Amino acid sequence: MTLASRYQAVKSQVADAARKHGRSLDDIELIVISKNHPVGLVEELYDLGQRHFGENRDQEAAPKAAATASLAGITWHFVGQLQSNKVKSVLNYAKYLHSVDRSSLLSALAKELSKTPINVKCFVQLNLTDDPGRGGIQPSDLMSFADSVATVPGIELQGVMGVAALDRDPRIDFETIAHCSAQLTSAHPRAKYISAGMSHDFEQALEFGATHLRIGTAITGNRNP
Ligand SMILES: *Cc1c(COP(=O)(O)O)cnc(C)c1O
Repeated sequence: MTLASRYQAVKSQVADAARKHGRSLDDIELIVISKNHPVGLVEELYDLGQRHFGENRDQEAAPKAAATASLAGITWHFVGQLQSNKVKSVLNYAKYLHSVDRSSLLSALAKELSKTPINVKCFVQLNLTDDPGRGGIQPSDLMSFADSVATVPGIELQGVMGVAALDRDPRIDFETIAHCSAQLTSAHPRAKYISAGMSHDFEQALEFGATHLRIGTAITGNRNP
């Protein structure tokens, strides 16, 4: 299969899943995760109409964003763990951060944003495991953390983000994310978005209200050896 055919196939699977679960495609953003692939792949997908792209490492994202900066309407999402010392670089190109997952990162963001007039859209990443070492905000801490995110000038709180565990039905985690989202919107009505769903579980994520799908390999294929 070619890149174009994989892209069209995933788009029609997303449309089918949306219809099945009573969701409007207008409420769903497909983000293609281009990590481990050259900038040519981004350009080819752009020519096919794709505008939202995501990366999980600044070292790889920064040069790709620079190389595609002249493409009108291209929008970069940062979806991986973000080290505080990379915040300045990431804010140069990313309009969305999906992985605001700790207070120290929030402080680094606040400090950097205080120096520039830019805005960044942020998701709070949830830890859906029982292991606090995994990173992410425990659901029980979401409300207090979200309150502090929402007070940072320059940050637009979007909602919650999560990665479903691979070793069980992803619906379990997507249901938790949906509950967290409902709780969050009761205090922050505009933070109604849900970043969830990857190549292997986007249909289930759509069933539980995902609005921002982060899809890599189903579209990009595996990196050429
Ligand atoms: C790589 C990555 C994805 C995409 O994963 P696929 O299984 O290739 O679709 C989504 N979200 C995050 C945070 C990632 O790092």
